[in-house]
Amino acid sequence: MADKGKKVARNAAGPWYVDANCIACGLCVEVAGENLELDWDAGFAFVKCQPGEPKQEAALQDAASQCPVEAIGSDG
Ligand code: SF4
Repeated sequence: MADKGKKVARNAAGPWYVDANCIACGLCVEVAGENLELDWDAGFAFVKCQPGEPKQEAALQDAASQCPVEAIGSDG
């Protein structure tokens, strides 16, 4: 389960976030690339924009369920 106390700083403000456990595997960006981006230099993914439509919300939920280290979460 993602830890909202360890959100990476680049997350866009809002309910969805990536936490510091991210290992930059890149999977979530393939699944929910409209809302997630990978910072290769920093070594983590982050929420570049919060979902604005149901299909983006669904993609983020898919990404969260597939993340190998459970680093994607939502406060919503
Ligand atoms: S799937 Fe998880 S570990 Fe992989 S880049 Fe995304 S948040 Fe990081």
